[in-house]
Amino acid sequence: MQNVISAVCIQCGAEIEATPNITTCPKCGGIMDIKYDYQKIKRKLTKEMLSDRKINTMWRYMEFLPVTGESKVPKLRVGWTPFYEASRLAEYIGIKKLYVKDDGVNPTASLKDRASAMAVVKAEEAGMDTIACSSTGNAASSLAGNAAAAGFTSYIFVPERAPKGKVAQLMVFGAHVISVKGNYEETFRLSAEAIDHWGWYNRNAAINPYLMEGKKTVALEIAEQLNWKMTDYVAISVGDGCTIGGVWKGFKDLYEAGFIDRLPRLISVQAEGCCPLNRAIAEGKEWYPMEENTIADSIAVGVPRNPDKALWAIRESNGVVVNVSDEEILAAMRLLGRTCGVFAEPAGATGTAGVKKAVETGLIKKDASVVSVVTGSGLKDVANAMKAAGEPVAIKPDMSLLLEAFERI
Ligand SMILES: *Cc1c(COP(=O)(O)O)cnc(C)c1O
Ligand SMILES: [Zn+2]
Repeated sequence: MQNVISAVCIQCGAEIEATPNITTCPKCGGIMDIKYDYQKIKRKLTKEMLSDRKINTMWRYMEFLPVTGESKVPKLRVGWTPFYEASRLAEYIGIKKLYVKDDGVNPTASLKDRASAMAVVKAEEAGMDTIACSSTGNAASSLAGNAAAAGFTSYIFVPERAPKGKVAQLMVFGAHVISVKGNYEETFRLSAEAIDHWGWYNRNAAINPYLMEGKKTVALEIAEQLNWKMTDYVAISVGDGCTIGGVWKGFKDLYEAGFIDRLPRLISVQAEGCCPLNRAIAEGKEWYPMEENTIADSIAVGVPRNPDKALWAIRESNGVVVNVSDEEILAAMRLLGRTCGVFAEPAGATGTAGVKKAVETGLIKKDASVVSVVTGSGLKDVANAMKAAGEPVAIKPDMSLLLEAFERI
């Protein structure tokens, strides 16, 4: 691997060779982190080289990734997603500058594609052709899609409450789907046992350190799309904690390699009905499990799988935490749709709901600049989209009835 030095345990510091199928720390079971040679990156790569690059996918950041020129990168076009200055939304919320990074336009319509694309590369390098994961939905559909494109077999475990749109994606992509009658925690445990039993490649993001390396590319893109001038804050919805951990890793990579000269503060947004990580920060204590009570299924994670990296990211960035109600999430879905033309699933709009609330409550100042990451598309969860936006006017095909209807609204 070009610039990778090793894998380091974030718990005990053990350093091991970064082979393609490493999982947790062989010494203590802690989560591993991929370590790079930033001096080497600095010598070889410049901002100008990057902006001249024609690769409009997450793979444009090859030097910051655990791959080589020979790695077979998947065919699906993952990453380099749109980045909008959301001035109407900023005005509505009452904040100076707001940008929206729309990761719902990835091939399977969520940010998870970044991790799944990486999983496929590493599985191939490990000489395996069957990949498995458990997921609240999006990791599942993204793995199924990326595996299908690469000709791999996938086994996917989802809790039975996963929205139909996501399960439909799995079926169309030809995954072997196991719908578990239980919550996400129970689903995760069953998948871990099955992966152990059959020896499949493990795409559980908290266990496989390479997946966070895929997820961090969203931060690399944000920085480049901001022309390397970072905003004060970046807001992200948080479930297991891999995304926020990955985002932080991405910004730190750029900082270490001299591409940005300051780091943003993270805004960690969770649902009021399921916010074990934000609660740990607010209480200044260890996290403990919580019920999974929210319409935002992608972040309904009562037992987060990557608490250490997530809490580290929030604390180290001097971040803030915001919890939002389901009503506030639905309102943010309407807002993103109506001011930006961006269609988000509930967890996809949660970051934006958090920005709005953070401004309202004075947690962040009105003259701040913020990036809000939309992590998944609204088409995945049509039932909640209808809940957010209601039903259309329904009439018979008759002009007089139309005139009447318009008078009523
Ligand atoms: C997975 C997911 C998240 C949260 O990511 P974690 O790594 O679980 O914290 C947020 N939004 C969407 C749409 C997701 O699919
Ligand atoms: Zn360890």
